Amino acid sequence: MNEKCPWCGSENLKLFLELKDYFLTEENFMILYCDECKLLFTSPVPSADAIGNYYKSENYLSHNENKKGLLPWIYNIVKQRNVVNKYNIAVADMANGSLLDIGCGVGDFLFYAANRGWKISGIEPDMDAKSVASNKLHLKIDSPDALPTLPDDSFDVVTMWHVLEHVRDLKSEIFHLQRIVKHGGRLIIALPNYKSFDAMHYLDKWAAYDVPRHLYHFSKESVINIFQDTVFSLTDIKPLKWDSFYVSVLSEKYCGSFMPFLKGIWNGLKSNVNASKSMQYSSLVYCFVKDK
Ligand SMILES: [Zn+2]
Repeated sequence: MNEKCPWCGSENLKLFLELKDYFLTEENFMILYCDECKLLFTSPVPSADAIGNYYKSENYLSHNENKKGLLPWIYNIVKQRNVVNKYNIAVADMANGSLLDIGCGVGDFLFYAANRGWKISGIEPDMDAKSVASNKLHLKIDSPDALPTLPDDSFDVVTMWHVLEHVRDLKSEIFHLQRIVKHGGRLIIALPNYKSFDAMHYLDKWAAYDVPRHLYHFSKESVINIFQDTVFSLTDIKPLKWDSFYVSVLSEKYCGSFMPFLKGIWNGLKSNVNASKSMQYSSLVYCFVKDK
C-alpha cells in the first residue's frame, strides 16, 4: 500500500473495509484506517474530473425535491424535521447574525434561517441544486472555489450539514474555516458516525459510507484529533436522530431486503435506543466555538 493518510501523512494504514458504490456504479472501493490520527478514508479517490460522474443520478435525493415513491417521501419528511432540528442545535440560542451554509443543497436550512432574521450566504457545487436554492432564497449562491476568497472573520456561524465528508482537500477546507469564522463565532459540522449501531449492523452495506462520494468517514475520536490543533474548541456533540431511519432503509435496499422500509425503520429505532446509552448515534453534530 503506497498511500498516505490525507490528514496526517502517516503511512501506518490498515484496510478497514472493502465495499462497492452500491448507490450508483457498483465499482469497488476500499476504506483505509490511519493508525495515527484514526481517520478513515476512501481509496482510490476519483480524479477531480471524474468525481462529478458519481453524483449523476436521478436518485440523488438531496437535490431532488419532487420525486415520488416511498423513499423520497421518507427523505422529505426527515429533511423537513431535520431543518428545524438543525436550526435548534446550531443557532436557536444565539443572537441573529451572519450565517454561511457550506454545501447548502437546495437551500432549505438557509430558507428557515433567513425567515428567522439571519443574514444568509451559501456555497454549493451542484449546478441544479444551486439554481433551486438561488430562486428560493433570491440570493447568489457561490461555488466552492469562492471559499478561499472570503475575507477573514466574516461569519458568526458557519454550518456544514453532511458536507465535510465530501470535501476533496480536508486540510485546505479546515484552514479556511478557521479564517472565515469570527472570533467567538461558531462552526457546526454534522457527520455520519461509523461507530453507530446501524454502521456496525450493515457493515459494507451501510448507506452512509456512500463511497466514493464520501471521501472521509469520521468518529468522535478522529474529529477530536483533527480539530485539536485548530482555533476551534469543541463545546457540544448532539445527535440527528432522524438520520438513522433513512440510512437504515437505504442500507436495507443495498442488502436486497424484502422489506427495506419495515426492517430499516426497525433498525433505525434500534440504533437510536442503543445510542441513548452509548451516544453513538448514526449522525452526530459537532459544535465548535472559535477561541476569542
Ligand atoms: Zn492520519
